[in-house]
Amino acid sequence: MSLLDRHGRPLRNLRLSVTDRCNLRCAYCMPEESYQWLPRKDLLSFEELAVLVRAFVELGVTRLRLTGGEPLLRRNLPALVRQLASVPQLEDLAITTNGLLLADQARTLVEAGMGRFSISLDSLRPERVRELTRRDGLADTLRGIETLQAIVGKHGGTKIDTVVMRGTNDDELEDLLSYARDVGAELRFIEYMDVGGATRWSMDKVVSRAEMLERLARSFGAVEAAPDADDPRAPADRYRLPDGTLFGIISSTTQPFCGECDRSRVTADGMWFLCLYARGGHDLRSMLRGGATHEALVDFLREVWTGRSHRGAEERLAQEMRVAPPAGEDPHVEMHTRGG
Ligand code: SAM
Ligand code: SF4
Repeated sequence: MSLLDRHGRPLRNLRLSVTDRCNLRCAYCMPEESYQWLPRKDLLSFEELAVLVRAFVELGVTRLRLTGGEPLLRRNLPALVRQLASVPQLEDLAITTNGLLLADQARTLVEAGMGRFSISLDSLRPERVRELTRRDGLADTLRGIETLQAIVGKHGGTKIDTVVMRGTNDDELEDLLSYARDVGAELRFIEYMDVGGATRWSMDKVVSRAEMLERLARSFGAVEAAPDADDPRAPADRYRLPDGTLFGIISSTTQPFCGECDRSRVTADGMWFLCLYARGGHDLRSMLRGGATHEALVDFLREVWTGRSHRGAEERLAQEMRVAPPAGEDPHVEMHTRGG
């Protein structure tokens, strides 16, 4: 019997951020050039991460995703992956990356046991990518995706994640779908969210799931709902184009899935957040470094999860005036610290 929170949601899905640093400056996540980084001494070591994961797994976590910042910037990441891949209860080990460094690391990561990759790609136009991310990285990201696909093939479960923003890249839905199909990956369109870091967010820049579906039906013909083969509780709603191409839409902004949310996040310095929108987190680093035993950690995680009642995205939807959180004096508020 899995551990349930106050709304009956199990502790199942954990996102571990392995760094808050990034080699891009996406306008919807890190619009400033420089940030106040987490002090290096505060970052959890691989050993500390492994201890934490063992405690989470004991309480029912079976799905783990590495994120950041840009996780491929973390030195020696394959060693961590190897350690995590050997935890038998973990059914799904995945990573979210911007792909810039993937061409060089794909093979080592796959061999270390990384199960699935999600690569963020918002545009196929080099000048647009430069404007959106303040780096000239499109060619490297595409090389990363294509190198990975040459290794894992079209059944490797690779996803390409696109944040859709009105007036920025919403004229590329069709091109991105075609690209993903050609490389044997599945595209997931993500509604633009008003998370920490998205200081330029406004509701009129959000393209809703309903609007995306309408546009795609106009371009491709009838779009039908498809069952989620991987996981019926996954946040993306899946669809099929007339030619059989599958894709997903994550509509966290207009159709939040708080009622089903089984995920929580640990930042690179060991703060545990029960919701992407939560103001405060729980300091696990102090417990780890204070010599807490495995049992004490497990007891603490159990107590906190049992009391969880967050429904952050739904609460935001209910607000009349939505604005993104102000630029962070506290790095923990930022999306690049919490992981997407
Ligand atoms: N650096 C990696 C990457 O970009 O894939 C991993 C970390 S990033 C914070 C994780 C995901 O969050 C990315 O897919 C990114 O597009 C998404 N994200 C960041 N800010 C967002 C926003 N304001 N709305 C929706 N998705 C966002
Ligand atoms: Fe970096 Fe990912 Fe944020 Fe872009 S979305 S700035 S790649 S952490």
